[in-house]
Amino acid sequence: AQRVVIIGAGIVGTNLADELVSRGWNNITVVEQGPLHMPGGSTSHAPGLVFQTNASKTMTQFARYTVKKLVSLEKDGQNCFNQVGGLEVATTPARLEELKRKHGYASSWGIEARLVSAEECVEMYPLLNKHLVLGGLHIPSDGLALAARATQLLIERTREAGVRYLDSTPVTGIERTNRHVTGVMTPSGTIPADVVVSCAGFWGVEVGAMVGVPIPLLPLAHQYVKTTAVPALAGRDINTLPNGMNASLPILRYQDRDLYYREHGEQYGIGYYGHRPMPVVAASLGATPKHVDEQKMPSRLKFTREDFDPAWKLSQELLPALRESQVADGFNGIFSFTPDGGPLVGQAPNLDGFYVAEAVWVTHSAGIARAVAEMLTTGRSEIDVAECELSRFEEVQLSRAYVNETSQQNFVEVYDIIHPLQPRESPRKLRISPFYTRQRELGAFFLELGAWERPYWYEANAELIKYLPAKWQPVERDAWSARYYSPIAAAEAWKTRNAVAMYDMTSFHRFEVSGPGAVHLLQRLTTGDVTTKPGAITYTLLLNDHGGIRSDIFVARLDDDVFHVGANTAIDLAYLGREARRQGQHTPSRWVQVRDITGSTCCIGLWGPRARDVISAVSADDFSNKGLPYFGVKRASIAGIPVTTMRKSYVGELGWEIHASAEYGQRLWDALWQAGKSHGLIAAGRSAFNALRLEKGYRTWGTDMTTEHDPYEAGVGFAVKADKKEDYVGKAALECRSRQTPARRLRCLTVDDGRSVVLGKEPVYHNSKPVGYVTSAAFGYTVRKPIAYAWLPGRVTEGEAVGIEYFGRQIQATVTSEPLYDPQMSRLHD
Ligand code: FAD
Repeated sequence: AQRVVIIGAGIVGTNLADELVSRGWNNITVVEQGPLHMPGGSTSHAPGLVFQTNASKTMTQFARYTVKKLVSLEKDGQNCFNQVGGLEVATTPARLEELKRKHGYASSWGIEARLVSAEECVEMYPLLNKHLVLGGLHIPSDGLALAARATQLLIERTREAGVRYLDSTPVTGIERTNRHVTGVMTPSGTIPADVVVSCAGFWGVEVGAMVGVPIPLLPLAHQYVKTTAVPALAGRDINTLPNGMNASLPILRYQDRDLYYREHGEQYGIGYYGHRPMPVVAASLGATPKHVDEQKMPSRLKFTREDFDPAWKLSQELLPALRESQVADGFNGIFSFTPDGGPLVGQAPNLDGFYVAEAVWVTHSAGIARAVAEMLTTGRSEIDVAECELSRFEEVQLSRAYVNETSQQNFVEVYDIIHPLQPRESPRKLRISPFYTRQRELGAFFLELGAWERPYWYEANAELIKYLPAKWQPVERDAWSARYYSPIAAAEAWKTRNAVAMYDMTSFHRFEVSGPGAVHLLQRLTTGDVTTKPGAITYTLLLNDHGGIRSDIFVARLDDDVFHVGANTAIDLAYLGREARRQGQHTPSRWVQVRDITGSTCCIGLWGPRARDVISAVSADDFSNKGLPYFGVKRASIAGIPVTTMRKSYVGELGWEIHASAEYGQRLWDALWQAGKSHGLIAAGRSAFNALRLEKGYRTWGTDMTTEHDPYEAGVGFAVKADKKEDYVGKAALECRSRQTPARRLRCLTVDDGRSVVLGKEPVYHNSKPVGYVTSAAFGYTVRKPIAYAWLPGRVTEGEAVGIEYFGRQIQATVTSEPLYDPQMSRLHD
């Protein structure tokens, strides 16, 4: 059996030990630098509020499991969860709208939730100031985790199952050989290990540094106080509640003012996120002492009262009963923040056997522990973990400067209302394509992803709106869906369908896979056949062992041993890189190199019915159907620049992806621009792009499909080569899946009223019950209807009516056959 060492006995480490034990693993050691009864990390003082609902499906599912587990974790008639419910109140109209959206998330992810009026809020929570509250969202299954108690029960239960616990034992180093962990060093000797999981909480950076793995988290202090007894809470019969369950009112969030509340018997507990960010370097806290108590622990810093003063005033406004109490005890407690607010979960890209589960809230702790246990024991987590993957970050996002700035920003914004398209304000311009100067000249509106600046539309195209034929005129949008949107996108879509447009595709991940083992690697990892002749492109899938979609990629064979891979995320790079390394270690003659060429190259998508006129004007190469058929790739010369051209298109029109070495980028752009003038060429952005790709039914991995879905239900079964002889990852699992009648399907919906645009993640109702959720959505300019792709049960078939919940109201939609645009593919094969 694998020898596992878990670093840290907080709520995450102990849950992980438990999840591994329950899966039959029995060689587990937990090493904790503090005393076990109270290790002194964030868990030791966590007030344990669990609000489950989150815009992220993954995080909500982790929270749901945490609740389920803590409810079932019982000893002497007492469990570890006080299910008092959760109430989030709105005191501004904007928050009231946000709560409607949140109600949508809850329904999408299967959490029972109810929007409640101001009167109902006060009924449920009589201490609220009724003049302040406009309404609320009530989630009956939310509540209080008894995190410290849960930790102790888990230690007890796993100990009985044979888990070894070493307390007051700091891990000082990690041994490794050939990029694989072999043991964990402590002052009392080395513990051999095949797998090391760092559950070190906000000490994660220090543990990562022991093996050269950058951990993008920042410890920040967050203020929490307890009040003196509040007379209004006195005299209630809290003692009838089981021991330790010293609360009966719902947990309360006042997000407009960055505050949350719980009861501690007759006292109030108040948490505040409105103060200045107070970053901490864990290493500077020194060694955890032998003796730790409530008042003295490494994760508890001195209270800075002046930072809390505004919170105290605001709290007394919301809960006037607090005016008869005082702040009795406060502290600045430390826990982790990350650049995108998500936790850090998974294996280090460059070190096998080293895993992390850090920056995890109590709320998600058991869910994440289960995911890691599944990864270790079965190779994959049932719940998709892409949003939490340690390897999701781009290299530049791992720098300390980036982590410090963005994590602090995340602290500031933790309760803010954030639009799904809202970009970070800083740092920006970290990665710009060689076309950036030209894009600026054209008035590009940029949003950021993966540290790249990406144009969404170009102001230079605004004047085209007046030439738009009536049936291309954009529809009015509501205030929320009109954010980060411009009607210029309609004009850009129109031009793409009727003339020609250039799209900057530089930010898409590109890898070069080369070497004598390249064919073997790609045959082994993908569902397609890449043994075609050089010059062909294959659209194929990376699956996990269970047939779930890890990614969808384009593999272009440039030469016998050289492939160009168009991929989705940094996670793909970590996966391909690790598999390549292992293959070379196992069979040296089959070595293979995976090189990220995203930044050193650039790419323009030149698409539209007149694309051939443009390219022919600047190149002597043959771009006819014969010269470069659909899904063909060849090297060519454009205006004297060496390029690689690929005959494919995300928008469903004739054209090419033109790839070049980055230094030629601007010249390439200029050459095409000049040549395109007389053919109506424009530059177009991602807003139009997203609409056009949805009309064409092209899925986006991570949004429309994830590891939770197999190719058949996601509608990409065509990318699985039926008669592929070689074994590949996921093949056996797929053989058991149904091609014809999957239990659920990714479906195309069109909105009946022709104008109500939704944004994604909204719940979909069938016969008045929520049965699924929207993935991607856009206004389809060509089909003149809003489009929404959605996961629905297999029984909901084409032609059926469904409702999409948007801000609490139902938008009628119809399940429609797809793709909506050019199902015969005549535009592409032209
Ligand atoms: P920890 O509990 O910190 O455990 C990590 C352990 O690793 C520690 O015990 C540490 O001693 C040990 N360790 C570290 N380095 C080493 C080493 N080198 N060798 C050996 N051992 C090591 N979350 C919620 O969900 N709801 C809330 O209401 C909530 N409120 C909070 C309020 C405050 C004031 C604070 C500070 C946090 C709050 N949190 C809340 C966050 C939550 O407490 C943490 O996210 C969670 O407890 C982290 O658990 P953990 O197991 O990852 O980390």
